[in-house]
Amino acid sequence: MARIVMKFGGTSVADLDRIRNVAARVKREVDAGHEVAVVTSAMAGATNQLVAWCQDLSPLYDAREYDTVVATGEQVTVGLLAIALQTLGVEARSWTGWQVPVATDGQHGKARIASIDGAELIRRMQTGQVPVIAGFQGIGPDRRITTLGRGGSDTSAVAVAAAIGADRCDIYTDVDGVYTTDPRIVRKARKLAAITYEEMLELASVGAKVLQTRSVELAMKERVRVQVLSSFSDAPGTLVVDEDEIVEQEIVAGIAYSRDEAKVTIRRVPDRPGIAASVFGPLAEASINVDMIVQNVSEDGTTDMTFTLNKTELPRARAVLEAMHAEIQYADLSIDADVAKISVVGVGMRSHAGVAGTMFRALAGRGINILVISTSEIKVSVLIAAEYTELAVRALHTAYGLDVV
Ligand code: ASP
Ligand code: MG
Repeated sequence: MARIVMKFGGTSVADLDRIRNVAARVKREVDAGHEVAVVTSAMAGATNQLVAWCQDLSPLYDAREYDTVVATGEQVTVGLLAIALQTLGVEARSWTGWQVPVATDGQHGKARIASIDGAELIRRMQTGQVPVIAGFQGIGPDRRITTLGRGGSDTSAVAVAAAIGADRCDIYTDVDGVYTTDPRIVRKARKLAAITYEEMLELASVGAKVLQTRSVELAMKERVRVQVLSSFSDAPGTLVVDEDEIVEQEIVAGIAYSRDEAKVTIRRVPDRPGIAASVFGPLAEASINVDMIVQNVSEDGTTDMTFTLNKTELPRARAVLEAMHAEIQYADLSIDADVAKISVVGVGMRSHAGVAGTMFRALAGRGINILVISTSEIKVSVLIAAEYTELAVRALHTAYGLDVV
């Protein structure tokens, strides 16, 4: 017997037939003798609709009321799923965030979970009841409803799994696992049987959209074994686990891409100590995250600085950078939003040389120019022109020997 959290995403609970299908899956695990807690998302599209309503009424909506509205999507699905389970003879009870309670901080719209009291859930599970818990929501210090940011129900599921000491957190979604890259771009993409927390974290943060980044961070911290699988098939999924659980480790686990970033270059910045601090300090103060950074060698006492940031931050970043012109007499500011970041990720890079070299050769072979490079312990990222995204991803997938044969 195991204790399992089963989490179902929006597409898995998109209508009543799918909710019935989910109930049948839960019943299977219950019948096998497991203790099961379920976490659900809202019906596909429901949260988008709720967000749109808030924005229509006021673009500057009150974040507390936004949370009150958008948290309702999950209340619908937990109630319906509990009914569907009861119909199948499974004893089930719905739980909203405040009822558990899932205590969060007070950052409405993007709250972080502070603690979950799992005692009552465990007690119910031990009597054979299935708690059906609303993902994405909690209760803040002011006792108001909070939500965890888009995609937050993955994080709810992992947090519940940690709180009740689950053996596994199964995340059911519309893809049947984690692939070496996006199968829509590379037909020869391969499903991974297992991937390490660190690799999953890097892949999630550079654009692979399977799991919310925060959920992977939490799983790694709390050592929750996560499995990503499809609610529409019985195919085995992908385990997200500790490195020592993985037997056959590839050097590169996956390739991700993101078109969410823009490249900013500040030309002819005076090259003196403290200049980077005066450029990036004000950006950080404005809560603008900068990702890749390069600074050229200086020739005549000036240098060029290039960095990337999220496209959505561009208007604010431009304002901050223009405001500093009086202090830093740079020549000009150029912005390119037509770029893509391609990243290769794998823990094998720690012990194998030449991963970056293979990447550069493969891109050169396709005539793709690299604009910016950045590396971390287990990741190499390059920025290229957006039009070459697919070509680059395919070339790299082949170069690292990841294509299914
Ligand atoms: N329903 C929420 C959203 O669409 C939370 C989630 O699905 O994870 O963002
Ligand atoms: Mg999701």
